Amino acid sequence: MRLSKLLSDAPAAATMQVDGFLDGRALKWGKHKRIKVGKVLRNFHCRTCDTQRTFVSGDELSCLGLGDNQISIDATLQCIECQSSVEIWFLIGSNGDISGVAPEVRIERYTENLRDRADRIDSHRGPFSDLVKRAQLAYENQLGAGSIVYLRKIFELVTFGVAEIAEIETKKNNGNNQPFALVLQQVNEVRNIIPRRFSSDGYQLFRELSNIIHGESSEEEALQKYKPCLQLVLGVVDEVSRDNEYARAIEELGWNVENISEITGGGVA
Ligand SMILES: [Zn+2]
Repeated sequence: MRLSKLLSDAPAAATMQVDGFLDGRALKWGKHKRIKVGKVLRNFHCRTCDTQRTFVSGDELSCLGLGDNQISIDATLQCIECQSSVEIWFLIGSNGDISGVAPEVRIERYTENLRDRADRIDSHRGPFSDLVKRAQLAYENQLGAGSIVYLRKIFELVTFGVAEIAEIETKKNNGNNQPFALVLQQVNEVRNIIPRRFSSDGYQLFRELSNIIHGESSEEEALQKYKPCLQLVLGVVDEVSRDNEYARAIEELGWNVENISEITGGGVA
């Protein structure tokens, strides 16, 4: 298998054996080399075309030597229709000599710079898509607490949104927001927004998210908790979206990242 296949499938983390791509010569630390490993193809939602498109690299990729077991690869990809250009970067590791005939390699890090030209598939719709995207980017860049902050914001947005629609009071007399936990409890009594499968311990999600944000977990713990917390938060979003009345109302309120601080301001309990 050629290295381009592994790069096209990122961020799948499995180790794969690929055809040697460094001509059997070690790429010394700090040295560059152009490699021919096939084109890298990735599907994104192209903003110019306003549809899903394949973005493709050139025939050669730029490779930077980092030692016997690691290389860095830079690539720029173009939309096959409108030539909009994005950049992606990989850190590739191997257990053995990475310059071997058939090295076993894996993607250790993957980052994309889509600028304002493209979005990940299925990440460009819905009132919370921007926050989910930010959470995911923070997670992929190993920012544990950072990724959780965005999940918590989504959770707060949904909860305050439902509170508004259900006419639950969210402000104190002095105009500040009520504590989030209190609003959540009242909301959940009127309209169950915590998915049933989590409802036996309904406020655990909120506590988990709060503890991490307030530094009671290490970065490593935060990263470990990211995926389950993401599932829980998306479950809350699903629960609300399934209810047409609430979903439509939230859509109509048109929340986006610009007015989050307004909604969550002073409410971080
Ligand atoms: Zn395009």
